Amino acid sequence: MPAGRNGDRLSRMETDQIVIVGAALAGAKAAEALREAGFTGKIALIGAENELPYERPPLSKGYLLGKDPREGGQVHDADWYAAQHVDLHLGRTATTLDTAAHTVTLDDGTTLPYTKALLATGSRVRTLDIGGIDNAGVYSLRTVADADRLKAVLKRDTQVVVVGAGWIGLETAAAAREHGCTVHVVEVEPLPLLRVLGDEVAAMFRDLHQAHGVTFHFGVGVREFGGLDGRVTDVVLENGVEIPADVVIVGVGIRPATELAEAAGLTIDNGVAVDEMLRTSDPDVYACGDVASWPSKLTGTRLRVEHWGNALKGGPAAAKNMIGPGEPYDPVPYFFSDQYDLGMEYAGWAARHGYDQIVTRGDLAVADGKAPECVVFWVRNGCVLAGMNINVWDVQDDIQALVRAGYEGKPVDLGRLADPQVPLGELLT
Ligand SMILES: Cc1cc2nc3c(=O)[nH]c(=O)nc-3n(C[C@H](O)[C@H](O)[C@H](O)COP(=O)(O)OP(=O)(O)OC[C@H]3O[C@@H](n4cnc5c(N)ncnc54)[C@H](O)[C@@H]3O)c2cc1C
Repeated sequence: MPAGRNGDRLSRMETDQIVIVGAALAGAKAAEALREAGFTGKIALIGAENELPYERPPLSKGYLLGKDPREGGQVHDADWYAAQHVDLHLGRTATTLDTAAHTVTLDDGTTLPYTKALLATGSRVRTLDIGGIDNAGVYSLRTVADADRLKAVLKRDTQVVVVGAGWIGLETAAAAREHGCTVHVVEVEPLPLLRVLGDEVAAMFRDLHQAHGVTFHFGVGVREFGGLDGRVTDVVLENGVEIPADVVIVGVGIRPATELAEAAGLTIDNGVAVDEMLRTSDPDVYACGDVASWPSKLTGTRLRVEHWGNALKGGPAAAKNMIGPGEPYDPVPYFFSDQYDLGMEYAGWAARHGYDQIVTRGDLAVADGKAPECVVFWVRNGCVLAGMNINVWDVQDDIQALVRAGYEGKPVDLGRLADPQVPLGELLT
């Protein structure tokens, strides 16, 4: 772009105001990217939590274990927002998005005009519509305040029942075991993480947790939470089994926080529907992070990804697209988890019945209670759809390249894929 045009664009920005709703990872990273790209207009960052924007992964890991400090998860300290002239409205909920008037109204009555708005409202936890859900001792985990409440009750010999063997359920189960609690996990599916990982890798997660003393109850739902004087005492399963409980952790998933977008009349399709530029059905409103579903060029399907990597990348991508020229958003979906001695990263997208074989580099088995060291690939017609490195590091770039090639229909030699002696980077050459 000629220098003059760029100068015009930047000076026009001085009168612009970008309002970002949702002050967590995606929202804060968007504000950062706006300033880095030279945006000189006003930025308002609105967050319902009375906390500086922070990252959530430590809440079910190091922070819950008392190892990571509270400030460790902050995206930036308070001085950064002041220095960057980012107006924080913390402890404030945006109640109305008026796309005709180009305003966002907050719960204290403040009305903020915008030239562009970004919805980074994330997710809210799902709950269970069963008896006893409101008893004291029943917890969910999304915010740092939730983590503080939970951390205070995870003590040696506390009887913990976790409902749901997804990522949050398993990570909190691991943390509870490390605190010395007895832990039961109830899951309606026959294995943990089954829909995300498929049978083979799901079985490894079961074995790992069992080796660490977790008792699973698979293939059964929860009927109700028993209680005495308003405090939970047990969890009653649909098959009649009663598990004594001092603490219950409900980890049955999340739903995108679409209320504001819905009320504004924006298109919703498994979250706030955006195009490949992360623009919603209103051209001046964008969305990113957990709340947004985008048409993935990689997979050819609409995706909504409820993971850290998508907030980290999606915020800056939306920011750049709002001030233009930007570029289409097309990441390889990525997430990570830590449980006991297992650390893993996963890249790609492979539905439970969407692959025809698993290829492993190394042994996937849990041996002597220890997590494996290996790389697992989900493969269809010889093409890599997804890969997970477990306690093997510095291979993500290669895995993501294999996933991109796989989705472009380029098969790899599966014998070489399984051979740890062949560098992953050589498989595509
Ligand atoms: C305990 C925990 C552990 C996790 N661990 C991992 C992990 O190990 N690996 C991984 O890949 N991912 C992990 N995740 C997922 C990851 O943290 C999320 O994908 C990420 O937080 C999404 O960021 P976000 O900014 O899009 O939304 P969120 O983090 O959900 O933040 C949205 C913010 O918007 C605010 N908000 C919503 N509506 C309004 C409104 N109307 N007005 C004002 N504010 C509003 C909310 O209060 C919230 O603060 C974990 C999540 C949790 C809860």
